[in-house]
Amino acid sequence: MPQGLGGPSARHQRPAPLSADARYARQVVMPTIGEAGQALISDSRVVVIGLGGLGTPAATYLAGAGVGELRLVDYDTVSLSNLHRQFLYREDDVGQPKAEVAAERLRAYNPAIQVNTHTQRLSDALFATLLPDAQIVLDCTDNFPTRFAINAACARFGVPLVLGAGIGSTGQLGVFRHDRKDSGCYRCLFDESGEVAEACEDAGVFGPLVGMIGAWQAFESLRLLIGESPAHSSWLHFAPETRTIRHHQIPQDPACPCHV
Ligand SMILES: [Zn+2]
Repeated sequence: MPQGLGGPSARHQRPAPLSADARYARQVVMPTIGEAGQALISDSRVVVIGLGGLGTPAATYLAGAGVGELRLVDYDTVSLSNLHRQFLYREDDVGQPKAEVAAERLRAYNPAIQVNTHTQRLSDALFATLLPDAQIVLDCTDNFPTRFAINAACARFGVPLVLGAGIGSTGQLGVFRHDRKDSGCYRCLFDESGEVAEACEDAGVFGPLVGMIGAWQAFESLRLLIGESPAHSSWLHFAPETRTIRHHQIPQDPACPCHV
């Protein structure tokens, strides 16, 4: 008789109880997390800005890990060209607000957490609502002006920022310790008058590439929440085609306007 992956006894196993203990057991058993780390994760408020190719995996892993409150920010709607990489959405979601659809899926994925949505464009007023009591902001957007605005807001409110970027087949990951006075930031690294971002529409993007970077953003965010992240800011360049990772610390630029 053919056997499934679970073997002959799998069909007789009782389902696991729907308790938080069982849900988070595989991460709580890790010495770096434990019950204390899980409590930190469960008590946290995390802002995810952009629910596209980066925000989809990032928000999903954070929801799975039990982040107490996710604040999803996106004014965009689902389009057909999103679906090859944005796996929270289905074809019949096209035209619907991304934040609302993502929230519905994440609440079903983990009913124990709170998921709130914000479908307006970013503004100082919205930052003032979302950031003061947040532990982390994830920048999952795709353009330079928005990244500078988010970085400046995180500097203003002293909230750590985990930034992801992916285009073509290369990705970047920034962890900026705005919660520490001496740390460098995104504006220390890039001049606002400098580069023009390549758009996904023009350059294209591998779905799994933004999947990897978004998952990495969730990884770094969880490490920040449990106090396991380095105290300095860092920038990482990732080129999976050549198996290359470059990584360096970001010192604070005394001329950076974010630190006056
Ligand atoms: Zn700076």
